[in-house]
Formats: sequence, structure tokens, C-alpha cells
Amino acid sequence: MNNKRKGMMIVLSSPSGAGKTTLCKKILENDKNISMSISATTRPKRKSEIDSKDYFFYDEKKFFNYKKNGFFIETAEVFGYNYGTPKKFVEEKLTKGHDIIFDIDWQGTQKLASYSKTDLVSIFILPPSTKDLENRLKKRAEDSINTVKKRMLKAKAEISHWIEYDYVLINDNLELCMKNIQNIIFVERLKRHRQFSIFEFVENLI
Ligand code: 5GP
Repeated sequence: MNNKRKGMMIVLSSPSGAGKTTLCKKILENDKNISMSISATTRPKRKSEIDSKDYFFYDEKKFFNYKKNGFFIETAEVFGYNYGTPKKFVEEKLTKGHDIIFDIDWQGTQKLASYSKTDLVSIFILPPSTKDLENRLKKRAEDSINTVKKRMLKAKAEISHWIEYDYVLINDNLELCMKNIQNIIFVERLKRHRQFSIFEFVENLI
């Protein structure tokens, strides 16, 4: 049976520095049926980032013009900068049965749930400890000391949203954490409501 299914929106959220960017990259490398949703942002580009690959870097005028014209599924303000998820990419992928991974915060996750709860699989990644989170943020060293401090302060507030997620994982072992995410994706793909052609198949059986 050629069992067609709808794509799903897989959200990975965590406080900055809990390792979710590395996890996203590894998952994408290992599964060609998953694409990354590239957000737009008004935040300045970090040295290691590439425009149109890591983010679409827009100035405020362009961002708000796009927002006004319904270009985004959701937008949020994080650390004084604007972020948004482009709509067209998501709609095309879901219809074709491709999965999309999102590196967005809890605000974006709530808005994706209002957009389409049944297509959403949400995963929250926790750091193993506050010390570890602080070290990872410092090691990254791409943001100013002030930004690191702000992000540390915000981390606890972000973690308080863990309970709104379908799955919660502790990233104390990258390989294990990745395996767990892959297992989640594996079973979520098999869920009955995602399998279009199973209805027709069963009708023919009975
Ligand atoms: P960063 O500037 O460190 O890349 O991201 C800061 C925060 O913004 C992270 O928590 C990230 O998940 C979130 N973020 C990135 N893109 C989006 C987006 O399109 N929508 C929302 N709501 N949050 C986003």
C-alpha cells in the first residue's frame, strides 16, 4: 500500500545554549524527509551565520511590511528583536508529506498550535544544569557579555514553559538526546490521524 501522510511540524524549543541548534543540524543530516524552517529576524547576523540559511536577516521596515501582508504564520519579539516564520514554505512542505523542524521559542510554539494543533509535535530541550547552560553561552562568545547576561536571566522564564510541550528531554548526552528525538519522530509519523490512505485501505478491508 502506498500510504500517503501529511507532513508534521516538529518544534524544538529550549533556552538559548541548551544545544538545540546542534541537535537540529544533526537531525537534518540524518533524515532527508525533514527540512528546516528558516525564520526571518531583525537581529544582527552573528559571524558564524549565513543569510538565507540560518535566518533571513531583514531590517525592521521589510519585516513589518511582510508581516502586514500575511507573509508569516507567527511572529514574536525576543530580546528586543523580531522573529517570524514564513508561511508559504510550511504550507507547501506539509501538503507534500514532508516534515519541518522549527527552532522557535514557546511563544511561536503556542501560535503554531493555534495554526494547526494536529500537525504539531513539540519537544522541549532542557540543559543538564544552570552551570552548564551558562558555560555553553559563554563558550559561544558570539554575543556581547551583556547579551549573555540577558539570555541567562531569560532562560529560567523560558524553562517555565516546559509543561506546555508534548515531550521534554534533558540534553546531558547529545547522542542519546538525538536518538530520543529520532524515536519521537518515528512514532509520530505512524500516528493514525497522519495517515491519509489508511482510511481507504480499511474501507476496502471491511
Ligand atoms: P537566536 O537569536 O538565539 O537565534 O534566537 C533567539 C530565540 O528566538 C530562540 O529561542 C529561538 O528559538 C527564537 N526564534 C527563532 N526564530 C523564531 C521564530 O520564527 N519565531 C519565534 N517565535 N521564535 C523564534
